[in-house]
Amino acid sequence: MSLTFDQILSWLQEDDGPRLDSLWQEADRVRREQVGEEVHLRGLLEISNYCDRACQYCGIRQPNVHLDRYRMTPEEIRAGADEAVARGYGTVVLQAGEDPALDLSVLCDVIRRIKNETPLAVTLSLGERTVAELAACRRAGADRYLLRFETSNRELLEHLHPPRAGDPPTHRLDLLRVLDELEYEVGSGVMVGLPGQTLADLARDVLLFQQLDLDMIGIGPYIPHPHTPLFQKLRTADPPCAGQATADELTTYKMMALARLACPQANIPSTTALATVNPQAGPLLGLARGANVLMPNLTPAPYRRRYEIYPHKAGSERTSAESANAALEQVLALGRQVGCGRGDSVKRRMRCRATVPGPTE
Ligand code: SAM
Repeated sequence: MSLTFDQILSWLQEDDGPRLDSLWQEADRVRREQVGEEVHLRGLLEISNYCDRACQYCGIRQPNVHLDRYRMTPEEIRAGADEAVARGYGTVVLQAGEDPALDLSVLCDVIRRIKNETPLAVTLSLGERTVAELAACRRAGADRYLLRFETSNRELLEHLHPPRAGDPPTHRLDLLRVLDELEYEVGSGVMVGLPGQTLADLARDVLLFQQLDLDMIGIGPYIPHPHTPLFQKLRTADPPCAGQATADELTTYKMMALARLACPQANIPSTTALATVNPQAGPLLGLARGANVLMPNLTPAPYRRRYEIYPHKAGSERTSAESANAALEQVLALGRQVGCGRGDSVKRRMRCRATVPGPTE
């Protein structure tokens, strides 16, 4: 279904309970029809909390001196992949800050080892890397790449996500096109309720999901981190801008449901940020309102509390086993099934099928 700006904005402004119920039901129906009842579990490894960027919203930003930094060794990453296999997952997600010391040859080597020695799909979420680096990781076997455009409001993005000193402003949209050309499955997404972000901006975000025809869409509420400039600004605050979007659960569910309607075959996670604002019901409601993916955290115990992009991150006090069990319970509580296999993009599979010529006579 192609949504218009006015339709999306009107849903984002909706506060009538029964009408919102009809949105949740429609998102759930489309999810069931297009990607089925399976919930795919992706094992998340937060492989480094070093970052050389200074995003105003993010707790692992380089200027945050209060953070104890770590970088997982290739052996630890490889062991994390084994844990994902042992838990029956089809994908491992390697996520990190923009860490220049995460050496490309080491990274490619660990990707190759995972690909040669396990059946896992490998998803990368390593921020803005050069085209040559993205191509090298793809050649090494990486299957998917997650790079949120964060907000479609260009001016706001450039303010909140400044380039490195001397670099031109960031063009995450250009990188998303590169990733598509490199034949990665491409994921992107946004934060909801960034200071200065309006409901109209969120409506344009959904239009952009639709236009980019994404394989994966991650949406979570913005959660202020005390050691960031954005938190300080909120405390001393100017009044919110006219039409400011709220960084709450309800707006996040609306965005997830609209993302499902805009991109019916996308893989959409019920995100950790959502689970952070509502640990009990958030993951379940996310799955009931458009999502079909969970990402249990398999980051080893000594590190996981240190990947603090925002405070009280859901799962940071759990062990990998507890995160894995919680995800399983959530899927079963909804009467859904855990996905088998890699949980590849349905859309991309269908596109491949359409372009592969049939047998000739
Ligand atoms: N460095 C990579 C990147 O920039 O894509 C991946 C790691 S980054 C920490 C992953 C995501 O965390 C970002 O895309 C952003 O949407 C989200 N994030 C960062 N700070 C956040 C905050 N304070 N509240 C909610 N989400 C946040």
